[in-house]
Amino acid sequence: MSDAVERASALRLYADETAGCTRCPLADGRTQVVFGVGNPDADLMFVGEAPGFHEDQQGIPFVGQAGKLLDRLLGGIGLQRSDIYIANVLKCRPPQNRDPQPEEIAACESHLFRQIELIQPRLVATLGNFATKLLSGKPLGITRVHGQDQPVTLGTSQVLLYPLYHPAAALYTPSMLRVLEEDFARIPELIARADAAIPVALTPGEPETIELPAREPEPVQLGLF
Ligand code: URA
Repeated sequence: MSDAVERASALRLYADETAGCTRCPLADGRTQVVFGVGNPDADLMFVGEAPGFHEDQQGIPFVGQAGKLLDRLLGGIGLQRSDIYIANVLKCRPPQNRDPQPEEIAACESHLFRQIELIQPRLVATLGNFATKLLSGKPLGITRVHGQDQPVTLGTSQVLLYPLYHPAAALYTPSMLRVLEEDFARIPELIARADAAIPVALTPGEPETIELPAREPEPVQLGLF
């Protein structure tokens, strides 16, 4: 069995296991766990915040209005959902779509880390503040860091992290949508770069091997996101 087939099968088993998760009180209010969908061997993985009403009903991430925008943005760079993998920081819907709480993120984060370990994406695009802060390990908000790719080690995988505005925020703010479109346009180049530069997985203790050029930090912008 090829490595990719083995990882895909391990991901399916892990999804089955996660379906019964009761690590936090969100389990009580959910219709179902929204594990993630897409190509289990994708080079590009998106990480959003948490399921909303429609996602909770259908068991699929990003099926509401924000998801339609995400599909359109993907189409703009010649990709479709079957090319990528999409998951969220939280696998269960918070009541009234409120923000994820720190205890919920702490309880749920190892599900996401395991997904990343099994999928081994080269580029992880975080959508909004929660995914960006969790995977960068830094408190910097999305307004400050969107569009700035950064190499990170997640578990045993080295990936290029690429923070983006959350499509739900861009839906109602045309200036943010333009920035999101511009940031999206760089994705194909970043996938190619990450593919060329990043080894598939590190064995524990192996020295870091990638050196990707750092980009100048952008000036801080005030705003909601
Ligand atoms: N917003 C998210 O962050 N994730 C979803 O799955 C849907 C909307």
